Amino acid sequence: MEDQIAVELKKRLDLESKSKTGTEESPEEQKRTLKDVVVIGCGASGIAALSKLQESGLDVVGLEAADRIGGRIHTTEFAGGVVDIGAAWCHGEENNIVYELASPHDLLGKPEGTEEEWFIFSNGTLMPTGNARAVITEFTDALHARGQKEKSISQFIREDAEKYPIVELGKIPKTKPFIEWYERDNHVGGQDDPKKGKSINGLHEHKICNGEFWLNWKGKGYKTILDVLLNKPPYSEKPITPDIKLNKVVTSIKWQLEDVDTKKPYVEVLCEDGTKFEAKTAVITVSIGVLKESHKQLFTPALPDVKVKSIDNLQLCVLDKIYIEFATQWWPSSPASFKIIWKEENKQEFSADEKWITEIYGLRTVEHHPKVLLAWIYGKGAEEMEGKSEAEVEAGVNKLMDKVFSLNFEVSKIVSIKRSQWAKNKFVRGAYSYRSVATEELGGSASDLATPLEYNGTPVVYFAGEATSIEHHNAVHGAIETGREVADKIVKTLPRN
Ligand SMILES: Cc1cc2nc3c(=O)[nH]c(=O)nc-3n(C[C@H](O)[C@H](O)[C@H](O)COP(=O)(O)OP(=O)(O)OC[C@H]3O[C@@H](n4cnc5c(N)ncnc54)[C@H](O)[C@@H]3O)c2cc1C
Repeated sequence: MEDQIAVELKKRLDLESKSKTGTEESPEEQKRTLKDVVVIGCGASGIAALSKLQESGLDVVGLEAADRIGGRIHTTEFAGGVVDIGAAWCHGEENNIVYELASPHDLLGKPEGTEEEWFIFSNGTLMPTGNARAVITEFTDALHARGQKEKSISQFIREDAEKYPIVELGKIPKTKPFIEWYERDNHVGGQDDPKKGKSINGLHEHKICNGEFWLNWKGKGYKTILDVLLNKPPYSEKPITPDIKLNKVVTSIKWQLEDVDTKKPYVEVLCEDGTKFEAKTAVITVSIGVLKESHKQLFTPALPDVKVKSIDNLQLCVLDKIYIEFATQWWPSSPASFKIIWKEENKQEFSADEKWITEIYGLRTVEHHPKVLLAWIYGKGAEEMEGKSEAEVEAGVNKLMDKVFSLNFEVSKIVSIKRSQWAKNKFVRGAYSYRSVATEELGGSASDLATPLEYNGTPVVYFAGEATSIEHHNAVHGAIETGREVADKIVKTLPRN
């Protein structure tokens, strides 16, 4: 008798389930709960969105592909303390949400003293800093005075240096090694394909926040901002604890669905491990690199053309860090930075396998780590470095020290290194987004990327993350701003039950 009742009950449940969705569902799926918001990606932007949404009483879940939150904020142990292999500094004080959030807790430190800046040629000789600065200043001035918006920064600088080859002040030639250094330092891209280069318009659009550019986290690392955003003690007595699920790689977002009963749109999000989440709305915060690689499989139906244009034409540069711990501090003072100007003849001293070493364009001292230097590597060289083993990278850094630094400095022994691999990271694929020449010629912009997807007149998928920020892309403050803005919009507009 009991068995018969159970069979009847199951039949009824099956029928109900079919009439609601038009498909057959497992008992697990019948227990469906419709979340208010599902946030995809728990980097700075996702965490900022989640904390605001949760605080306002909405039912939210965060899905993060990696086994940690933070994304391009990644504080990790090194040399007896911590270092950031992703974002490290809060850049600026005015109109900067990171500064606003961190200052009340006195979390940010300014550099102690004035930075000593060294310009060093790849043969080890030093160039007077004033002369080198004159060349660099002239590049930037020329860009602002004569730069045509349809050109890439790289193309313009190269052409302009042909027309005006000498810096009048000091009669210094604008040589290729200087041009290449400038291109790397400004992460301009486009050396192989001018369409992928950073556009001059993009340069004007991006706004630097006034105030100190190199605010550090007093030895605690950039991850501190995630704790601040989540109100963790000691930053607040009322922690915000959204439901964050790690190791959830989102593989499908269905965004044109309508609930049979309520006639309201909803979004279905599927993860690689088979789990399914349904919500009234979704916020996607993954990098532009991840969108480039996966939007075709990710979204059903496919994204509208205007969105695809932005994904295709906005670019993501590759920038990596190599932290180097030395036995002793061998540079004369801290803070200091070394800019390496690579001459063609010195590049030949490195084998094809070692070419990446010649793309390291600068080193700087690291706050709270007196024996550590941070080396920067950009573009193709960075990608090549990522393919090397840690031992090979250490050997490469040793060769760099030997060839470039040993002429003027008594370099001490390398104790250990730690490097980033942002291009290899399939959940990020690079460092910073930028507006390319292709966006000028073919269309696409941060604001098009940020426009939500609507179904039946209702926004169902919002886009946030650094690439959706018009004025502050490429920085954590831009990522957080966009996450908070989207959360505010949702709080104001999402219908409550
Ligand atoms: C080397 C380097 C140095 C930098 N230095 C600075 C600095 O000093 N100061 C500064 O302000 N900014 C800096 N930045 C930039 C800054 O880190 C980023 O702008 C910011 O962290 C981006 O945050 P986000 O939330 O937009 O994206 P992300 O941090 O990329 O977050 C997106 C999240 O989505 C997750 N994800 C991806 N795919 C999926 C999927 N399919 N399913 C679920 N989750 C997924 C990712 O794992 C990630 O956690 C630096 C970046 C790099 C790489």
